[in-house]
Amino acid sequence: MDRQTLEPHPPESRVEADFVPSAPGYWPDVAPELWNDWKWQFKNRVTTLEGLEQHLNLTPQERAGVILSGHKLALAVTPHYFNLIERDNPDCPIRRQVIPHVGEGTVSASEMADPCGEDSHMPVPGLVHRYPDRVLFLVTDRCAAYCRYCTRSRVVSGAGEQELHTDFDQAIAYLEKHTEIRDVLLSGGDPLIFSDDKLDALLTKLRAIPHLEFLRIGSRVPIFMPQRITPELCRILQKHQPLWISIHTNHPRELTTEVRDALAMLANHGVPLGNQSVLLAGVNDSLPVMSSLVHKLLRCRVRPYYLYQCDLIQGSAHLRAPVRKGIEIIEGLRGHTTGYAVPQYVIDAPGGGGKVPINPGYVFFHDAEKVVFRNFEGKVFEYPEVPDAGLQPKPSPLREEAFSC
Ligand SMILES: *Cc1c(COP(=O)(O)O)cnc(C)c1O
Ligand code: SF4
Repeated sequence: MDRQTLEPHPPESRVEADFVPSAPGYWPDVAPELWNDWKWQFKNRVTTLEGLEQHLNLTPQERAGVILSGHKLALAVTPHYFNLIERDNPDCPIRRQVIPHVGEGTVSASEMADPCGEDSHMPVPGLVHRYPDRVLFLVTDRCAAYCRYCTRSRVVSGAGEQELHTDFDQAIAYLEKHTEIRDVLLSGGDPLIFSDDKLDALLTKLRAIPHLEFLRIGSRVPIFMPQRITPELCRILQKHQPLWISIHTNHPRELTTEVRDALAMLANHGVPLGNQSVLLAGVNDSLPVMSSLVHKLLRCRVRPYYLYQCDLIQGSAHLRAPVRKGIEIIEGLRGHTTGYAVPQYVIDAPGGGGKVPINPGYVFFHDAEKVVFRNFEGKVFEYPEVPDAGLQPKPSPLREEAFSC
């Protein structure tokens, strides 16, 4: 165990704790009414090498990466998000997420086009039914901007060879027929790219299915294009409650004043908010960065939900951080800060096993008599097991956990 993670965080480790506006940045001449219009943001995305080089000093590795991206995962960055990129710093944590890198062309044997085995779990095109009571509904292949580590880069953006052919009628029919499904997660791509009318129509169809108790949307739009979060959109989302949104943010700099205000509007319309982060090398693989991120999220009324180990997507080696680092970060948060601020660290089991929690080892021993465990400070405690005639000896996975740290 790393002793360092047990120290309290000094205040100076509060990385980019303040909310700072993204505008106007590299676009000083754009009128605010255009800047604040999501259609302008979408239309004016940076999608070419020339567009990037107008503002940034690229490295040869980035330039080669851009050329490569045309055949795999498109390059696109909204002006709002682009403003968070440092002009001259190739290690900029925002840049690493959206600017292509030549490393994307290096594919190792353990990497896959479909690392979570989604294609083999689709009963109808666009619907992934892996868990008993819930489904993942891939409603579009487009996003506001493209993340270089995207687990769905095989279908997302339209640049690669594989296409997403979601069949909405078949998907709705499947959901109607399968009464065991109570939870539908809309994802893609990014569902908030849809127009208000299209989204409203889809949510209305889903709401008409009586056994669907719970709807959620996974979206990075509030981060890439907070202008999309309008009062009209919020009223639609509110109408279809209970509807939760999982946003996706990885670094505290992404939580700008514009993003904070968009999240406040969602929360004020009764949309519970969670966040999913991906552990990324050189972006958020450090305790001070992650602790600043989760604290800022709580201030925005967003509950950190998952921290994902980066999937084994082809060409992602330069962005993957060690599992050990993820465990160390969770260990450095749990007990040291607000429990609500601690996400669940998971690995989506390669090949299609689903999300598996990966935790620091707190339990040293557990039998019919007692459980021996440690706290966040490393102090060891014992709790007498409650006598239970039916208690079975613990299965081996728990014992292994005791040695995992
Ligand atoms: C992540 C995921 C879900 C949702 O999982 P939760 O743990 O309930 O958030 C559902 N289906 C698939 C295929 C997924 O990958
Ligand atoms: S927003 Fe989500 S779906 Fe879109 S590229 Fe990023 S990770 Fe992939």
